[in-house]
Amino acid sequence: MQIHDNSSANSKPFNLPTFASMRFSELGLTDAILEAIDHMGFEKATPIQEMAIPHILEGRDLIACAQTGTGKTAAFILPILHKISGKEDTSINTLIVVPTRELAMQIDQEIQGLSYFLSVSSLALYGGGSGRDWDDQRAQLTEGVDILVATPGKLISHIAQGYVDFSQLKHLVLDEADKMLDMGFSDDILRIIAELPKQRQTLMFSATMPNKIRELAKRIMVEPAEVALSISKPAAGVTQRVALTYDNQKIPMITHLLKEREDYTSIIIFTSSKSRVSEIVHALRKSGFKSYGFSSNLEQDQREELIRGFRSRRIRILVATDVMSRGIDIKEINMVINFDTPFDAEDYVHRVGRTARANTKGEAVTLVNEKDMRKMAEIERLIESEVPRIPLPEELGPAPEWVLAPKQGKKRPFKKKRKPFRNDAK
Ligand code: AMP
Repeated sequence: MQIHDNSSANSKPFNLPTFASMRFSELGLTDAILEAIDHMGFEKATPIQEMAIPHILEGRDLIACAQTGTGKTAAFILPILHKISGKEDTSINTLIVVPTRELAMQIDQEIQGLSYFLSVSSLALYGGGSGRDWDDQRAQLTEGVDILVATPGKLISHIAQGYVDFSQLKHLVLDEADKMLDMGFSDDILRIIAELPKQRQTLMFSATMPNKIRELAKRIMVEPAEVALSISKPAAGVTQRVALTYDNQKIPMITHLLKEREDYTSIIIFTSSKSRVSEIVHALRKSGFKSYGFSSNLEQDQREELIRGFRSRRIRILVATDVMSRGIDIKEINMVINFDTPFDAEDYVHRVGRTARANTKGEAVTLVNEKDMRKMAEIERLIESEVPRIPLPEELGPAPEWVLAPKQGKKRPFKKKRKPFRNDAK
């Protein structure tokens, strides 16, 4: 995995193993935090933690390019906990803004784990709850909370009521910033930031660094340090495979894969299209594989219930859109099947990254039809390796040949030059 830290002038990218060798005690964190880290079973700091924590402890603004699964949450929570561990008042010290409710809940849980031996309070605010939730949240916000984790919409609704006091805020974290901008939260983020003190530490975590992220950083940060963990390669523990298939071979191929891996307890099938989720679930159920669909069409309660079921292994097969490919941390997913080739090459890395997290092993099979071969070739360019092909079982008939169709760029309509009418000259 490549790591870049360009916050000092002469630093160059260098290679480190996925998990670096630095001990947490070398980072200068308090004993109570080290004890909680031990309790969580973290042995050594991950590269993003090793890179980010010293900058955050130093008080600098920071842009960190890292995807989920790299330990990025603890990379910002640990130094923040270190800094607020002696805090005595109940004012809001840290605001963490995130794109989805699932991520808000997950970060809140990680805060609870890492602050086990500290008296630090946290609250997760996200949309979709009941009126009672709202009243509880208002009560907690009025009382005060050390760390607030929130999705933008819900936070703005509370801010509008006038009882959220950010006057003592010291840290702002934007997590999965690229996803928030993709989801259209840019104005909401600026609106929230307008409520915060100008004197604060701002940390931005993002899986990718498109220009719009840099522009946002310029507006809201002061001379940020930058650390980057290249996302262009899935973790080393993932066995990646491609199966070339015609569309009508996809479901039979999946059922073949599922049958062959009876011992797998946790499988995600990704598709780019929401409408296809239920088609796949239906087809798999007809073939005797109980599966469940997960997409943004579901209500929050249903989504939470599915995640709980999947985490606890009650649900073996989940069919999901890319909503699931980012942010959600579920350990030991045995296999990811890409029903279709992700449109964006980086989504491939995210999807495949659901398996083999934190140094475990996993398998990822991508079904590629004739139309998706070029996309697959682009993914292979991004990850800098050719994914081995697996044959289809004989009873499925011949697979399509690997042929790269010419690029489907937008052709400009050919415009004929209009001949001047004779009268035009007059
Ligand atoms: P994240 O990238 O924040 O989604 O974290 C992915 C998973 O790695 C979470 O389950 C964390 O609890 C776990 N994790 C974070 N830091 C470490 C570490 N230093 N060692 C082992 N696991 C870790």
